Amino acid sequence: MRIDLHTHSTASDGTDTPAELVRRAGAAGLDVIGLTDHDTTRGYAEAIAALPAGLTLVTGAELSCRIDGVGMHMLAYLFDAEEPALLAERELVRDDRVPRAKGMIAKLNELGVPVTWEQVARIAGDGSVGRPHIATALVELGVVPTVSDAFTRQWLADGGRAYVEKHESDPFEAIRLVKAAGGVTVFAHPAAVKRGRTVPESAIAAMAEAGLDGIEVDHMDHDPETRARLRGLAGDLGLLVTGSSDYHGSRKTVALGEFTTDPEIYGEITRRAAGAFPVPGAGGV
Ligand code: AMP
Ligand code: FE
Ligand code: FE
Ligand code: ZN
Repeated sequence: MRIDLHTHSTASDGTDTPAELVRRAGAAGLDVIGLTDHDTTRGYAEAIAALPAGLTLVTGAELSCRIDGVGMHMLAYLFDAEEPALLAERELVRDDRVPRAKGMIAKLNELGVPVTWEQVARIAGDGSVGRPHIATALVELGVVPTVSDAFTRQWLADGGRAYVEKHESDPFEAIRLVKAAGGVTVFAHPAAVKRGRTVPESAIAAMAEAGLDGIEVDHMDHDPETRARLRGLAGDLGLLVTGSSDYHGSRKTVALGEFTTDPEIYGEITRRAAGAFPVPGAGGV
């Protein structure tokens, strides 16, 4: 069984449509794929309609959170997408992405970069707009060679010259809301140092106490020593350990299924979830 529980589509900052994503996952020989767009469930219907036979979809989202000024991402799986309190929180975060993107564009304009909201809106389409879309615009304008090169202090990195904060949830509130909606929570890439400051182990312990289910350990942003340390931490705190690609299509170099989750852990996630069931592929269009 090959299980990849963290991927993005054009519903947020991936470059494959949800239908393309699940077709590609099927072709890559995956058995289970988690669709975890940033702060939105908008990709579900299209992914389900296109789901190939032999591939199971785990519905999810990656929720933007912040603790003590440090940004972090909380993966949420198999929650009830209609549950009003969690839906309202997702909308609050997602809707604030638009004025925030406009703020970053204004800062870039002040820095002499002629990027426009029209350009970024075209790149984002109907996906929840984020820094990778602005980074793509900077590549188009020849300001940086690749999307990753835009994530520096010079441009869009946390605290960078053109960075603007967005509304982000308190992770304890996110855990509470996801649980109340029947879902399971996994702290995404908790030690991804290249993205900026990371959350201390004491805070992860407090989240575990508050009902966090797991941490993502096998991720391209963690080196082998970091993974070993996080495995130890998960063991100490009784947390599930996941691995996943965090695939973003052509906006990142990682391949679908490059990192995977153990089938037993996947089984435990599905047993804990009560808000939605994994969707087996019927061989969609
Ligand atoms: P936002 O949610 O708009 O703040 O943007 C965060 C997103 O930017 C993450 O989900 C990643 O997709 C992407 N990202 C963050 N850091 C980097 C990086 N160093 N290189 C490439 N993409 C990054
Ligand atoms: Fe992303
Ligand atoms: Fe993330
Ligand atoms: Zn992600």
